[in-house]
Amino acid sequence: MTDAIVFLGIQGSGKGTQAGLLAQRMCFQHINIGDLLRQEVSIGSAVGDAVGHIIERGDLVKDTIVFDMIDTSVEPGCKGIIFDGFPRTLSQAEHLVEHYNLIQVYYLELSEEDAIHRIEGRLVCTNCGENYHTQHKPPSVPGICDICGSALATRADDEPEAIAKRVKAFYERTFILKSFFEKRDSITSIPACKSVEEIQELILEDISKR
Ligand SMILES: [Zn+2]
Repeated sequence: MTDAIVFLGIQGSGKGTQAGLLAQRMCFQHINIGDLLRQEVSIGSAVGDAVGHIIERGDLVKDTIVFDMIDTSVEPGCKGIIFDGFPRTLSQAEHLVEHYNLIQVYYLELSEEDAIHRIEGRLVCTNCGENYHTQHKPPSVPGICDICGSALATRADDEPEAIAKRVKAFYERTFILKSFFEKRDSITSIPACKSVEEIQELILEDISKR
């Protein structure tokens, strides 16, 4: 069975950054399910057409589609996989432990309040797509992109009502997943408020014990 490491964490927790760093370090393949799905939508594949409206509503894509997508994206000779955005349901978690050698799940823990705060401040350049944050990564001139000088905007899915709904759904889902992995003693929680380097250190230290 292929080795697997899982990252759980809400948007803004830095989960994607950590997953990417660890994948490089361990020569594992980084599989981000959200990115894969959005790719399918943008190229207009059959899968993309089927899931486009589901993603737009913020609902979950069917398990079978997710499993197929993972299977087809695994590269030949893959040493191991870092999962990002998977599993999202209990049945996906069961599939994971049945089909992969799970090394550990890392949960980047952020309070609901901090999560909302981090998402709310996000800005994106309307031209080049560069990301900013009103507090954590402000542009040198308010509202203007440092790179191309175009106007910055709030992301469409970052309207307060949409954020609140997404955050609530995340914590409900994650509570179930956390209990599942806690029972198997295969989850480590790490405070997401630490720096990128500190978090990566803690993860590497923990992996060396597995
Ligand atoms: Zn720009």
